[in-house]
Amino acid sequence: MYTELGRVLARESAPEADVVSPIPDSGVCAASGFAEVSGIPMQFGLIRNHYIGRTFIQPQQAIRHFSVRVKLNPVRSILEGKRVVLVDDSIVRGTTSRKIVKMVKAAGAREVHLRISCPPTLSPCYYGVDTPDRNELIAANHTLEEIRQFIGADSLAYLSLGGLMSAVKPDGGSYCSSCYTGVYPVAFPRDERAYLQLALKVVE
Ligand code: SF4
Repeated sequence: MYTELGRVLARESAPEADVVSPIPDSGVCAASGFAEVSGIPMQFGLIRNHYIGRTFIQPQQAIRHFSVRVKLNPVRSILEGKRVVLVDDSIVRGTTSRKIVKMVKAAGAREVHLRISCPPTLSPCYYGVDTPDRNELIAANHTLEEIRQFIGADSLAYLSLGGLMSAVKPDGGSYCSSCYTGVYPVAFPRDERAYLQLALKVVE
């Protein structure tokens, strides 16, 4: 399914480029589908250190920034002088993507085009996925162009909601899309902080 997301994403927004490079590990499957449909070869221009944990669930901004630098290493021989399509599965705060784009440009990439295999995350998940408050979600408070500028990419595109649904439910199944639409089929308390405190108490 993740590969199909990349195929649809390429049909919607493939740029002129020399190499497709996944942001590992979250972008690998979508990048392979993107490369397949766009005809742009896929190469691993970033290598992940698997001993460093996921960044967006770490509580302190300073720790997240440190982790990005330590966990990903750019491969200059793949990136230098190239127009690079970076593929990832989401943008949450934007700070991690910004660091990665900066890193890829510092490794010599001529252009960096960021492609995201889901629609913009506009609203938190109240159903179990650990996402930050709405005020920390960059897509909740900024336009596409503002996000592109913050991240420092030459172009930025997300998969459309229609494209996502065409990839995941060819059988006509029904799937949640609340964090992309802000429409929640199951009600939750409107006070987000109170809700999160309640959720923590339930977990304890
Ligand atoms: S699609 Fe639904 S369940 Fe999945 S992360 Fe978004 S809000 Fe949560």
